[in-house]
Amino acid sequence: MQSKTNTHLQDLDYLFFDEATLRQFIVYLQTRAEVIAPHAKGERSYMYKPVKDAKEVVLNYPRTIQPLKKFFLPPTETLLTFKLSDNQYVEQTPEPGKRIFFGIHSYELQAILRLDYSFEKGNPESNYLTRRANALFIGISYKPDAYHFGKSVGIEIEKTDGFSLFIEPMENGYFIFIVDEAGRTLLEGFQAPQTQALVFEQQEKEFHNKIKYHHNRLPEVFEHAYHSDVWKDVSQRCLGCGTCNLLCPTCYCFDVRDEIELDAENGTRQRFWDGCMLHDFTRVAGDEVFRDKLHNRTRHRLFRKFKYITDHSGELSCVGCGRCTSFCPAKISIVEIINQLIKDVSEVKSI
Ligand code: SF4
Ligand code: SF4
Repeated sequence: MQSKTNTHLQDLDYLFFDEATLRQFIVYLQTRAEVIAPHAKGERSYMYKPVKDAKEVVLNYPRTIQPLKKFFLPPTETLLTFKLSDNQYVEQTPEPGKRIFFGIHSYELQAILRLDYSFEKGNPESNYLTRRANALFIGISYKPDAYHFGKSVGIEIEKTDGFSLFIEPMENGYFIFIVDEAGRTLLEGFQAPQTQALVFEQQEKEFHNKIKYHHNRLPEVFEHAYHSDVWKDVSQRCLGCGTCNLLCPTCYCFDVRDEIELDAENGTRQRFWDGCMLHDFTRVAGDEVFRDKLHNRTRHRLFRKFKYITDHSGELSCVGCGRCTSFCPAKISIVEIINQLIKDVSEVKSI
């Protein structure tokens, strides 16, 4: 184990693994818990899924399509089953199984921490919290592409909060940093083979996608952004497909629907992801849709990320993953929207 020096990662104890050792470590982790990790899906897409073969885990990936939240808040889930004739129902509760999430980027775990805030506050959401209880995370750094902007929202690539171990890939292997005691225990159990002692030197990774203002100033921008023309300009191109909501790691809105089986007797109550960019999201009794116009829905989505929740939690609800831009069929960029808002607001308000 190497000694400590002075930057953030360098303040932590670490080991160095070559490629074969890292794969053996994944196999070892599988003896401790179910391991979830990024895998290739097609030629250029990635997804998190349970590891069957450690060789298939992908460590150099830009982002997955669906965020990690799907393991804590599934896209659809049965909340209860019921029988109409006797008016009885049985709640479906998840098992609190132990899972290790391996190869996770910092923005992804920060998104889970924001969901924790939302699901713990007020009326705690027990299904989410049960799935979340025994989760352990092993992070990995990444090379920002044209869509990542974590630094602009205060989330550095090497932000280790919430991780137990953190991996820094190098040309000939991986530095494994010990972040907490659970991570140290895992490594001690693995009994890693001795490898050549290397000294870690932090390498700067540049973000290409940037918000013009420091993230501390964004809530102030949104104070003055409600009547901006930006919302209508963006909505000219928006298709209202909801992809930006459904792939966002911090969006958590859902709908609940009762499904009756063909016997007209038994049924299930289903919960499924929903999103504020979808037209029917605000449809209420009397067939009113109170955010009927796309520009209102766009504004609401951005205000949820940069103002409404932030006013309560003190944290931005955007973690800079870039999914809402990279997977948007109209290529609408959230960073461009914010930079345009900054320009408009600063001209009018001199902030
Ligand atoms: S993904 Fe793009 S096109 Fe679809 S609703 Fe979001 S901003 Fe509009
Ligand atoms: S708003 Fe976009 S960039 Fe921000 S967390 Fe959601 S999907 Fe990622």
